[in-house]
Amino acid sequence: MSSFDPLQCPACGYRGNEKTCPQCGFPIGRYQDFLSGVPVLTDETWKRELEEQIQRHRTTYHQRMIREGTIQALMQIARRLEEQGNPTGALETYRQALELVQADPSLGSLAREIEAAIRDAQRRQEPARQGTEAQRQPANQAGLGEISRDIWQNIAKLEFVEQLIVPSTGKKIESKSILERNKEYTIVARGSYEYVDKRRSLKSVRTVDAKDVLLINDVKLEPIISNPERHEYVFLVIGTGERISFRVSKTGFDPTISLLAEIRKGSVFNLIK
Ligand SMILES: [Zn+2]
Repeated sequence: MSSFDPLQCPACGYRGNEKTCPQCGFPIGRYQDFLSGVPVLTDETWKRELEEQIQRHRTTYHQRMIREGTIQALMQIARRLEEQGNPTGALETYRQALELVQADPSLGSLAREIEAAIRDAQRRQEPARQGTEAQRQPANQAGLGEISRDIWQNIAKLEFVEQLIVPSTGKKIESKSILERNKEYTIVARGSYEYVDKRRSLKSVRTVDAKDVLLINDVKLEPIISNPERHEYVFLVIGTGERISFRVSKTGFDPTISLLAEIRKGSVFNLIK
């Protein structure tokens, strides 16, 4: 049945004998020998690939934890609003929770639970609705803005490390600070710029944000928090005991324009929890 003895996932700490970590998707099977202490021939490329895999899956895992934590908090607020006789507020809050759940296909069962809660709240809202149609507003948007504001405030509480200008020329820049091994860091990247997309027949100018072009230690990471209106994105990285580097993968139309990357110590995830 089990293909090998239980091993610990190096990305999220899960213990089991699955070939792919069910918590974060790390390919445990591929590194089976190494993880069970069997001597393996490794080279720099192999080591870098492993580091990247760990980083990528750890980010996925944290992203999910942040999402789940936020969803649970929203569900609690919604239930409280219902108890206080505010079905409209409860409904809006459930919808925010649903929006977050839908962004992660692995949270399918939670989605059904929230949908049921929404139907319940809708039923309760019917009698209380009289005449309030006119004052309805895109509360979903306002709500998300609020969550996002909380998150940005939390980021500001993290210890500032360094701010770096990442030129749109594609030049690589390196931090002065060494990022401590296995410590979590939050990278806030701001700004956008335009580049000429040469792959298109009509050379079109495209605007890009950090989420599209920023390479952190030569790897493109998925942001854990995004604010596209403000062109602000937050990435989670794990220190490797070395300096961190940034560069952009597409070079700018105007070479004087740059992105700003700010390094903060710790993870916003720990503050939300
Ligand atoms: Zn894992």
